[in-house]
Amino acid sequence: MLTKVSPSAQDYLKALFLETENEKRLIDEPVSTNAIAQRLSVSAPSATNMLKKLHELGLVMHIPYQGSALTEAGQRVALELVRHHRLLEAYLVEALGVPWDQVHKEAEILEHVLSEELEERIDAGLGHPTSDPHGQPIPSREGLMPARTERRLSDMEERACSTVAWVSDNLPEVLRYLAVVGVRPGVQLQIVGRTPVNGPLAVLVDGRETHSIPKGVAEAVWVL
Ligand SMILES: [Zn+2]
Repeated sequence: MLTKVSPSAQDYLKALFLETENEKRLIDEPVSTNAIAQRLSVSAPSATNMLKKLHELGLVMHIPYQGSALTEAGQRVALELVRHHRLLEAYLVEALGVPWDQVHKEAEILEHVLSEELEERIDAGLGHPTSDPHGQPIPSREGLMPARTERRLSDMEERACSTVAWVSDNLPEVLRYLAVVGVRPGVQLQIVGRTPVNGPLAVLVDGRETHSIPKGVAEAVWVL
């Protein structure tokens, strides 16, 4: 199914999906062209061009001055790509021992060329995983995903206990920092202190050690 759409078009569809996933918008809520351009590091005019093309292909609903949303067909392509990406990340970590801060950039390339056969083998070989090494859910082969209810760690109230659901996969330095302080999916966190004016958070990790976590890092951690 992916072969009908160019890799760069696929990236736009995935970017639209990830914008709605991360910001907990509805999938049919329009995403601004600027947000997409920023995510893909392209200019707003070239983003507009591609979004119009995808609109003509029936993959995106592009409304001038409002933004773009995935159509059902576009959603299917995006979910297929996200499934490839997250399965590949799981495979690279679990089967090849690639560190978790290195796998995203590899998966960004390989996701476009993964065959259905290899996808099946990776899925079966890993025992049909439901989440990737960063804790992000892997869509099923049918393109189904659990509903998301996570919040950013930075938005949690002081003293409230939470469990790490997933962490952003595309910030290697943040992932290395989190590995050092022991923050990974499944670990319990509690904010025990805040510093005013966007300063670091004091976070008790796994009920054992308190670490000072910069605001920018806490924004990349999603908890339940
Ligand atoms: Zn990734």
